[in-house]
This record gives sequence, C-alpha cells and structure tokens, in this order.
Amino acid sequence: MVIRKSRSEIERMRRAGQVVAETLRDLRKMVEPGVTTRELDAHAEHKIRSAGAYPTFKGYRGFPASICASVNDEVVHGIPSDRRLRDGDIIKIDCGATLDGYVGDAAISVAVGRIDADLEKLIEATRDSLFKAIEKMIPGNRLYDVSYAVQEYVEERGFSVVRDFCGHGIGQRMHEDPQVPNYGRPGTGPKLKEGWVLAIEPMVNAGTFEVKVLPDGWTVKTRDGKASSHFEHTIAITEDGPMVLTALEDGTITL
Ligand code: MG
Ligand code: MG
Repeated sequence: MVIRKSRSEIERMRRAGQVVAETLRDLRKMVEPGVTTRELDAHAEHKIRSAGAYPTFKGYRGFPASICASVNDEVVHGIPSDRRLRDGDIIKIDCGATLDGYVGDAAISVAVGRIDADLEKLIEATRDSLFKAIEKMIPGNRLYDVSYAVQEYVEERGFSVVRDFCGHGIGQRMHEDPQVPNYGRPGTGPKLKEGWVLAIEPMVNAGTFEVKVLPDGWTVKTRDGKASSHFEHTIAITEDGPMVLTALEDGTITL
C-alpha cells in the first residue's frame, strides 16, 4: 500500500531532503585523487548530525556507515573504507538523512580527476534519464511510465539498466511501497497520485545489466566488470507537478 503524504509532511520531507542535498554538495567538492571513501563518510556523518538529523543508512540492516560509496564497477551499496580514489575513477555516493521523522534519499556519480569520454557519457545518460523520469511524475500517469522513461533513454544510448535493484516509495521509512523499477511497460502499473513520494534511482551499466553481490553482503558489482553509474532524487507528486525534495535550499537540483 502506498502511503500518501500531506502537504505538511512533504514540507518536512523537503527539510530532510535539503540536508541530503547539502551533504552531497560537500562530498562532490571533496572528491579528488587520494581521498578515501572513509573520509567522505566521516564528513557526511558530521554534516548530517550537525543539521540535527541522523544518517539513515547507519545501522540500517546492519550497514556500518552513513553513505554508500561505490567505485567503478561497484554499482551500489559499497562500504566506505581506506580505499583511495584514483584519477580516472567514477564514484557513486548515496546518502540518506532522517530529520523530524522523515527520510530524504539521494545519490550522485562523480568523476575523480580526468575520466574517459565513455565514462562521462555513462554519467550523463544516467543523470539525464533521472530527469526524464521526473517529468513523468504527474498524477494520472502510470508507475511504469516513469520506469520506462529511464529504460528508453538509457538503452537508446547503448547502456543497460540494472534489474535487481530499484527505486522505492519513501516517507517515515526509507523503503516504502511501491517499488520503482528502472524498466517497464509504458501505460501499465498503478496510477500516480498526488501525495506519493518516490525515490527514483537509475542504476546504469556500461555493459550487461547483470550484477552480483560480494561476500561482504552489501557491495553490488557488475558481473562483467564494466563501469556503472547511479543518480537518485526523492520526489513528491503534487498538483503543481513533480517537486524534488532532495534539492538545495534555493531549489538547485543538479547536485
Ligand atoms: Mg539512496
Ligand atoms: Mg533509495
């Protein structure tokens, strides 16, 4: 069952989302060759707690950190460590914050130093597919219109969408109904309603969509070892159109 949010709940979620946006903005600036993913995690935790929020991921099903940090062929759920980022890497940073009982969830892909043009294209396609999906978040559209917007955009560019993980409803809990796959048949699925809040998160692979989970129980990698990219925003469906809750205070959404 999808839990619809009132205007005041969406306002609270907007504040949680703002904490996430500010944290990711900081982390993007910190990304450079030599920095460790643990350093990024430490800053994120400090930033989130300083805002009076708490890092949603920490302790979630036993996850040990405040962000997920996934490098190169790691797709999502990478655990921060002493790994140093290197020139040419791509890092995906996923961040959640809970404020006043409501959760914000967003993710970015960031180039480390200079990266290959192909990798740049992968990042752009992933980011742009998210915005294609957001455009479909209008009351009366169907859920898989949103899913298909991602799939179509990504596959037209020769990349693939991950099947095994998907976006989700979000509110007082990070993961609520419905699941939002990054593929689907347009014109099908439940009708979108005002007050739904969804975390849309394209996970896009350069090669095959197949992934595997490492023995640490968390880190998801591409099966073929090729690179992967990930972006995510938390978005409310309103009568005035889609509202990105994980935006900066001034409304900037390109984290
Ligand atoms: Mg996330
Ligand atoms: Mg999410």
